Amino acid sequence: MDEIDNLKAENEKLKKIIDVKSDLISVSAHQLRTSLSAIKWTLRMFMDKDLGEMTPEQEEFINKAFQSNDEMIKLVSKLLLINQADDTAITFNFKEVDLIELLDQTLSEFTDEAKKKCIDIVFQKPKDASVSSNCDKQMIHIVFQNLIENAIKYSHEHEQVTIHIQPSTDSKNVEISIHDNGIGIDQKDQKNIFNKLFRANNAIEKDHTGSGLGLFTTKNIVERHNGKIWFESKEKEGTTFYIHLPIL
Ligand code: ADP
Repeated sequence: MDEIDNLKAENEKLKKIIDVKSDLISVSAHQLRTSLSAIKWTLRMFMDKDLGEMTPEQEEFINKAFQSNDEMIKLVSKLLLINQADDTAITFNFKEVDLIELLDQTLSEFTDEAKKKCIDIVFQKPKDASVSSNCDKQMIHIVFQNLIENAIKYSHEHEQVTIHIQPSTDSKNVEISIHDNGIGIDQKDQKNIFNKLFRANNAIEKDHTGSGLGLFTTKNIVERHNGKIWFESKEKEGTTFYIHLPIL
């Protein structure tokens, strides 16, 4: 009995430590994001010439600073989300969500990104039907953002990214796939792809701004919906990520 009590006490202690760590991450990340956002708006004022004309060289430096700052904001936001998705104490807000509508909304956020790389985004969806799932809209939005962002980021210019949504063959799930013909994932890296902070060498070469946090969070969120995520990939040929979310 003593031993069980000891274990319980240790367990409680650990939970408290995890809570403190999670709060610390959350507070620091929020403060960081606030400061970074202030820098963003100052840089934006320079870019909009609110503070007067700039030489082309000054403009180039301000643009670079703006981009780096934006990347930091994205990273800090990701940290916050991971903390949230990781924290089992945070309850998800489950509601009926029209996944086609949510995908349409997410895709519209990537129009500029895709245009810059001349990437054609094709969305294949059932005609005149809605496909819904009981989920936390904000969290599934993050899942879609991560997978679509990766598909574009790891594609070459002038390629195509295809998103497909349909009920699974057993009609128990909604199946969503995101396919690209980009750099692909080397066989030896495939087992690590959902690990926190893991980035494959070809990904680092292609894009140095990644964090290796997106897929870890994505898997966490999908599994907290009783869903499943997996992928098929061949290096230099492309990748398809699949998600199953319980159908409503
Ligand atoms: P990152 O910020 O590096 O993109 P993620 O957690 O989203 O982090 O992905 C982890 C790693 O998985 C990437 O660094 C990359 O090696 C690999 N990966 C993810 N999506 C793709 C994809 N569509 N094509 C090729 N590799 C991918």
